[in-house]
Amino acid sequence: GRPGCECNTCFGGPDCSVRKPNCTADADSGNPLFLEPYWRRHAAAGAVVVSGWHRMSYTATDDGKFQSLELENQIRQLHRAVGNAVVDDKHVVFGAGSMQLINALVYALSPDANAAAPPSRVVSAVPYYGSYKTQTAMFDGREYKWGGPTAVWANASRNSTNGFIEFVTAPNNPDTELREPVLRGSAAVFDRAYYWPHFTPIPEPADEDVMMFTISKPSGHAGSRLGWALIRDEKVAKRAYEYVQNSIMGASRDTQLRMLRIVKAMLASLHGEEDIFAFGHDVMRTRWRRLNAVVSQSRRFSLQNISPQYCTYFKRVREPSPAYAWVKCEREDEDCHEVLLKAKIITRTGTVFEASKQYTRVSLLKANDDFDALIERFTDLVNAEKYDT
Ligand code: PMP
Repeated sequence: GRPGCECNTCFGGPDCSVRKPNCTADADSGNPLFLEPYWRRHAAAGAVVVSGWHRMSYTATDDGKFQSLELENQIRQLHRAVGNAVVDDKHVVFGAGSMQLINALVYALSPDANAAAPPSRVVSAVPYYGSYKTQTAMFDGREYKWGGPTAVWANASRNSTNGFIEFVTAPNNPDTELREPVLRGSAAVFDRAYYWPHFTPIPEPADEDVMMFTISKPSGHAGSRLGWALIRDEKVAKRAYEYVQNSIMGASRDTQLRMLRIVKAMLASLHGEEDIFAFGHDVMRTRWRRLNAVVSQSRRFSLQNISPQYCTYFKRVREPSPAYAWVKCEREDEDCHEVLLKAKIITRTGTVFEASKQYTRVSLLKANDDFDALIERFTDLVNAEKYDT
């Protein structure tokens, strides 16, 4: 049972322990509850008690900053220990999740409001994470506007690569590819949300000018809403910080305090018996293996291909363990999201990522119960294929 939790669609009863037969599997959102069992096992190490008088101030430091220096240092330590980003020559800017940093960075990289320059075009290659478009379009204005998929500009920009801000998601959401910029020479924001050893091999520390990270995917604390940007240029960092300051006066001090505890617990676990990345990788590779075993029996569906690769964190070749399955329906006329929905599997249709409806995204990040239901429904669906003629 999971006391204190809302039952998901597959469970009922007073403590959510009664399994409902033939329930709908919800694999839509990227809610990272696969790490909940880890923090249940390490309840004390991750716990904070906050007295009513504590952290009441607007500011977190004596010199009036909104960011806790202690948390910033621990985050730098985590990147050094994992080896997934070069932090020494970067400024750190916190936001309320990396969701808020999307627009903070677009603003920071755009021409000044009084500059004569035309607005920046914000672009990303298909299939891209949908929030780049929704966030940018919401604040569209004189300084920047949503420019659509990179493919629209890939030829034109051979002459002029100025004036673009490209979101490069590596590994990508939804198809988990480790991406490179398409429009060479444009300003690039590297969204590194999934560049952690649960999900991907770390070939080398990322060292781009502007990178975006979030606590949501490495620790699983999506509800705390903490993201950070690593920015080389001081002026760009200052503009991003000002954006967050003007928007929300800095990331919540309660969140910063709680995440300090969480990041410290993560750091203390590394390379030991209770290594959070070893735990996360184990869960995710087992899930990928199980889903592959089912889908490989099918002629109707396929998954993205991922090969094992050397990881500098684990110091060995590691099995694939993606956060999402990018499912393709092999028949050209099929709406893959609808096909799966009929079989009681909720997914996120390819059109949300500006891809074809022949594709749909299946989240592998949720709780064990959600994943078990997904495997059951998918197995039923693939078994039914055998009786088709
Ligand atoms: N970028 C990517 C690629 C994501 O997948 C997500 C979450 N699904 C985010 C950013 C936003 O994450 P958060 O706001 O929780 O930091």
